[in-house]
Amino acid sequence: MNWSTIADEVLAGRAATRVEALAMLQAPDDELLQLLDAAFRVRRRYFGRKVNLHVIRNAQSGNCTEDCSYCSQSARSTAEIERHAMESAEALVTGAREAAEVGAVKYCMVTSGRRPSEQVLGAVCQAGAWIASHLKIRLCVSLGTLTDEQAQRLKAAGVTRYNHNLESSRRFFPQICTTHTWDERVATVRRARAAGLEACCGGIIGLGETLEDRADLALALRDLEVEAIPVNLFNPRAGTPLADRPVLGAVEALKTLAMFRLVNPKAELRAAGGREIILGTLQPLALFAVNSIFTQGYLTTKGQGTNRDLEMLEQAGFEMGMVEG
Ligand code: SF4
Repeated sequence: MNWSTIADEVLAGRAATRVEALAMLQAPDDELLQLLDAAFRVRRRYFGRKVNLHVIRNAQSGNCTEDCSYCSQSARSTAEIERHAMESAEALVTGAREAAEVGAVKYCMVTSGRRPSEQVLGAVCQAGAWIASHLKIRLCVSLGTLTDEQAQRLKAAGVTRYNHNLESSRRFFPQICTTHTWDERVATVRRARAAGLEACCGGIIGLGETLEDRADLALALRDLEVEAIPVNLFNPRAGTPLADRPVLGAVEALKTLAMFRLVNPKAELRAAGGREIILGTLQPLALFAVNSIFTQGYLTTKGQGTNRDLEMLEQAGFEMGMVEG
């Protein structure tokens, strides 16, 4: 296939097909740069060379009731991670101040667990209301399944976006989680959007899913019209059921990011967890497809640090900042 022609057509408003998405994932490694170039032309149209920096806050860590096999916070995990109860609103505000100081455009408060308790929701809403009225940073939260009323409370507190990932295709999801369903995840995304929250919704690649599953995830996210797509690159963790999964190759990961961009041209596409570990020295190439990264690490793993992130952006010809929609 001609990736450049597909980029032209996507820019003209045609949606990439499933056959094309799959072909991108199956492209010979020698075509990586052509594929990234096609993704970059689309990325540049909508986001220029801007990169959104996000800071994630693990507000309640570990001891989750769910059995997501990739997650070191799950009921099945014996991974050595820091586990802690819900942080206070004051601690969450401190995290937001620090995120604003490094120039992040979004501060994302995340809690483990199937759904938020009243204590969790109360702390997030209290912190959120203060942050929304005192800091320039925007708020995203990720608290699991929501009721309509909880989604409305978050919106009223100044939260602008809700994260809830589909993780993989509908077909593959039961192989990585049995305590809740893919359809429940879709319902939560819809509920958040109905309350006026933007949807941040993506997944993880490298769990053992097929290339078809990856294409189907990208297409499902397009159908849901999500505003932001975090793509996590699976970094197998000792103590989890998927500890022995083969590690994803950097070139394969880059082709996947390019596919997500060409299928979801206007979405904020993020190279999320696993960026440094999986992409290694090819990390800057991801910026030609994505327009967003987490800085200052992830939920249970460290990143390379904001200074190194900013240096990478500059060397690759990108700059931090957000294109207003
Ligand atoms: S629900 Fe979230 S925190 Fe709990 S095991 Fe699944 S991914 Fe991990």
